[in-house]
Amino acid sequence: MLTTFSQIIEQQQAKEILRRAVGGGKLAHAYLFRGPAGVGKKTAARALAAALNCQGDRPEPLEACGRCPSCRKFASANHPDFLEIMPEGAGIKIQQVRELKKALQFPPLEAGRRVVVLGEVHTMRREAANSLLKTLEEPPADTILLLTGDEAGGILPTILSRCQIIPFYPLPVETLARTLYQEATDHRQELEMATDWSSDPVFQNCLTLATVAEGSLGRARQLQEQELLPLRRQVLESLLNLQPEAPAAPAVVLYWAERCAQLKEELPDFLDLLTSCYHDLALLQTLSPQDPANRHNPIINRDLLPLLSAAAAHRGPATLESCRQHLRRAQGRLRRNCNRTLVCEVLFFDLL
Ligand SMILES: [Zn+2]
Repeated sequence: MLTTFSQIIEQQQAKEILRRAVGGGKLAHAYLFRGPAGVGKKTAARALAAALNCQGDRPEPLEACGRCPSCRKFASANHPDFLEIMPEGAGIKIQQVRELKKALQFPPLEAGRRVVVLGEVHTMRREAANSLLKTLEEPPADTILLLTGDEAGGILPTILSRCQIIPFYPLPVETLARTLYQEATDHRQELEMATDWSSDPVFQNCLTLATVAEGSLGRARQLQEQELLPLRRQVLESLLNLQPEAPAAPAVVLYWAERCAQLKEELPDFLDLLTSCYHDLALLQTLSPQDPANRHNPIINRDLLPLLSAAAAHRGPATLESCRQHLRRAQGRLRRNCNRTLVCEVLFFDLL
């Protein structure tokens, strides 16, 4: 399928900057699409590549026609002048940059513009980035470099200073929830007529996903696939209501530690979710009793509000802070490849 700008939700500012650049024929030689993960940066890079090479007639410079020979090649991921370089393992490697430089020694094969997408440049190590600098400054004629990077990942200043930066932003939670709902139900028509879908439990679930994903469509889809939200509820319902001295406490902790360890690579994501719940607990302590229900407060795990409000009332701020420390420590242990079950056991006992 051809990637187009119409597939990107919001991001009006980025679209407008690019529309003017393409329409006015004033493209920079290197752009960095910068913003949070999962909001459309890579999609935009692919869509721009297709638009720049489209030979069809079209009223909107950013939208490729979808019918011309170039568009058909993009649609089948088979365009000779489109290169996409993604991290291999932890990040883009110096060897990948060397191969790119070799490929760029030859002129583009077709008449249009050669486009190179370098994804997730925040994962690039210094050596690989240094090897790219000269190409970033002066790419060969008819070649344009499109970099994408997550703000939070820390992009090297040497890369930042050599690109024109196009900002991407988190999606508004409502917009993201509507998108997820549309995907889940395929009820576009009904949604636009704004009937009573907001009370639909499916929409409520989408709203929770959207809030927990903090405005990232990619993250929301990932969370949905992992099915971590129901487990988060079960674990918290169990642990927050468990007395440390209760005779059943060790068995309960061991049970959940075992269950959570089975998440394997997804365990750090799950602990991130639990951490967001403890942030909410701390936040709830600062809100007055009627505030938590206010839909404009920044609580993330809204679907757990009754559970979290009750738990917040029985814990001191110092306890909550040490819980968050325990969670950070557990994440550190996972990064050092400690045994997952043991990490969870220690963590869950500490959280009681
Ligand atoms: Zn076309």
